[in-house]
Amino acid sequence: MQAEDISLSKRLESVRERVVRAAERVHRDPAGILLLAVTKVFPAATIQAAYALGLRDFGENYVQEFEQKATEVSHLPGARFHLIGHLQSNKSARATELFDVIQTVDSARLAQRLNDSGKRLDVYLEIKLGEEEAKTGAKPDKVPELAAAVRECANLRLLGLMTIPPWSEDAETSRPYFRRLQELAKRNALHHLSMGMSNDFEVAIEEGATCVRIGTALFGKRRKG
Ligand SMILES: *Cc1c(COP(=O)(O)O)cnc(C)c1O
Repeated sequence: MQAEDISLSKRLESVRERVVRAAERVHRDPAGILLLAVTKVFPAATIQAAYALGLRDFGENYVQEFEQKATEVSHLPGARFHLIGHLQSNKSARATELFDVIQTVDSARLAQRLNDSGKRLDVYLEIKLGEEEAKTGAKPDKVPELAAAVRECANLRLLGLMTIPPWSEDAETSRPYFRRLQELAKRNALHHLSMGMSNDFEVAIEEGATCVRIGTALFGKRRKG
C-alpha cells in the first residue's frame, strides 16, 4: 500500500464512523445509507484505490472528464458510476454509455432522451431549493409532473430526489433544505434522497438522506479545475 492509500483508508474509516453515529442519533439503520465517493478532478487511480478499500459507488460531475477515466475503471466488478453534475442533452447519449445512475434529471425532455438510449438506468430528479441564479435543477412545484414523465419511461427507474443546498460553512444552514427535500419526496411517493456532502452529510442523514455524496472528506481538497 502506498502512503496515500493509507490516509484514504483512515479517512474512509472516519467517514464511515460518522455516518454510523449520525444514523444512530436518529435511530436509522446505517446500511440504508449509500456512501457515494465523489472522484471528480481525481485520476482513475483514485477510483481504483477507493475500490480496493471496498467502495463501489462513484460520483463524477462531467461526462467528458469521466470519459477519460472510464476505460481504466469501467470493468471493475460491481462498481457503479453516478453522474452528479448537470447533463446537457447533447451529451445524454454518451452519458448513458458511461453511467449507471443519473442523479441530475431536471426536465422531461432529458428523461426522454435518456430513455431513448435503450439502456436501463436508475435516476434521481435534481431539485433546486435555493434561490441562486446559477444553480441547475427543477423547481419543487415541478416534481409531480416530472416524476410522472419519468415513470412513463420504460428504461428509467425513478429512485428519488437529489439536491445541492446553497454552500455554507455551517451545516445547520442546510437542514431546512434537506427537510424540504424529504417532505417533497414523501408527497410524491419517492424513497431515496441524495443529499449531503463533506460539510453537511451528518445533518443530511439526520434528515433522511439515503445517499451522501462525499469528495473532500475522503480524498482531500481538490485542486481548482
Ligand atoms: C463535488 C460535489 C460533491 C462532493 O463535495 P465535497 O464537498 O467535496 O464532499 C457532492 N455533490 C456534488 C453534486 C458535487 O458537485
